Amino acid sequence: MTEKSDFDSPMLRTALAQLDQVAARLKLDPDIHERLRHPKRALVVSIPIRMDDGKTSVFTGYRVHHNSVLGPTKGGLRYDPEVSLGEVSALAMLMSWKCSLMGLPYGGAKGGVRCDPRKLSLQERESLTRRYTAEIILMIGPDLDIPAPDMGTDEQTMAWMMDTYSMTQGRTVPGVVTGKPIIVGGSAGRREATGRGIVYALYQASHSLGQELKGRRIVIQGFGNVGSVAARLLWNDGCTIAGVSDVKGAIYNPHGLDIRQLEAHIAEAGSVVGFPGADAVSNTDLLTQPCDVLIPAAIGSVIHADNAERIKATIVAEGANAPTTPEGDTILHDRGVTVIPDILCNAGGVVVSYFEWVQGLQYYFWRESEITSRLQEVMTRAFNRVWAMASKEGTDLRTAALMEGVRRVAEGYKVRGLYP
Ligand code: NAD
Repeated sequence: MTEKSDFDSPMLRTALAQLDQVAARLKLDPDIHERLRHPKRALVVSIPIRMDDGKTSVFTGYRVHHNSVLGPTKGGLRYDPEVSLGEVSALAMLMSWKCSLMGLPYGGAKGGVRCDPRKLSLQERESLTRRYTAEIILMIGPDLDIPAPDMGTDEQTMAWMMDTYSMTQGRTVPGVVTGKPIIVGGSAGRREATGRGIVYALYQASHSLGQELKGRRIVIQGFGNVGSVAARLLWNDGCTIAGVSDVKGAIYNPHGLDIRQLEAHIAEAGSVVGFPGADAVSNTDLLTQPCDVLIPAAIGSVIHADNAERIKATIVAEGANAPTTPEGDTILHDRGVTVIPDILCNAGGVVVSYFEWVQGLQYYFWRESEITSRLQEVMTRAFNRVWAMASKEGTDLRTAALMEGVRRVAEGYKVRGLYP
């Protein structure tokens, strides 16, 4: 892939730099390395929808499959004003390494629509989702590519996608998406899965570092699906949640926030902003407030060369995808900060999505306790594998996780060969 193209984006440059670095370490076959640098297929679509005022607006949507060497592709759908073909391609690539690292029979994919979902009515969001689904219909299917929620999308979005796809097939196809409402084939524990997985990863990291997690001070950027669940679970476990944020702003109190009261405030005010008993800070300043653990759980590239030096946390748990630039990563590494990389730390979501997909294909559903204990087992095993690899190779956790993820995909390419 050339660096100057429609695919160009900071996040894709990061993803390619990471792949190149790991390919060198693994002494990857150069032909396979070259194939891994390119998405298998990418589709750009126009999505015309009738707005509430009767006028038509046209949005741009993307779906990218990075590779399908280990199975059908899997990845979230993002509604965000900044989304681009390059960003979606980078996220699809990261999904490949994540699924491979977690031992799931999937390749990586990602989708996005360039829009601000907060400015759309429910009716407009439904029209957008249904038309986007219709436009990418040849790209998705239960044994082809299975979308899931990501930033700006949720269970309702997945229900509309599943319904639209099912209408074109003349039958209900629950396995075409994951992260659906439970009533139409969703899985118990899926909504909480990413946040819960972060907590399991944090327990493993603290244990491996010989530290106690309880009582430690935590800052979380982003209080959406991922951030709010992580906050609630860590707070329940006796951690001090000192700061949180959303797109409108951030709040910080070194003595901790009452998460139950914060949830009630958000239900009323629609934002963390204005929560009594905490100081208002900017999203940028939140990252450098005093804390032991920092969980970026919003957008990409927020930890970079200009702020990594000032981050106080000794553990960074990457809830978001690609929140750290390569320059930021190097600084954190040199300062001895333990970074639990995105492809490991936030993999709980895709693991339980896999459970949901399997349940949907078999029409046989598991109890939440089974899902939670299987998630814990998969997360713990993956963490320990990555920790052991990092110790053996003398690398940071990200390099070790990527080495494991990339190696399995490359092995798949090798045994399958090159068609024709
Ligand atoms: P979400 O839409 O539920 O929440 C996103 C949060 O980030 C919200 O609080 C939002 O206000 C905030 N935010 C949005 N733009 C921001 C900005 N410019 N600055 C600061 N905050 C901003 O999304 P989510 O599902 O919680 O996803 C959050 C991150 O986690 C994303 O990077 C996503 O790719 C990643 N992730 C999500 C899942 C999942 O299962 N949902 C799985 C793995 C990774």
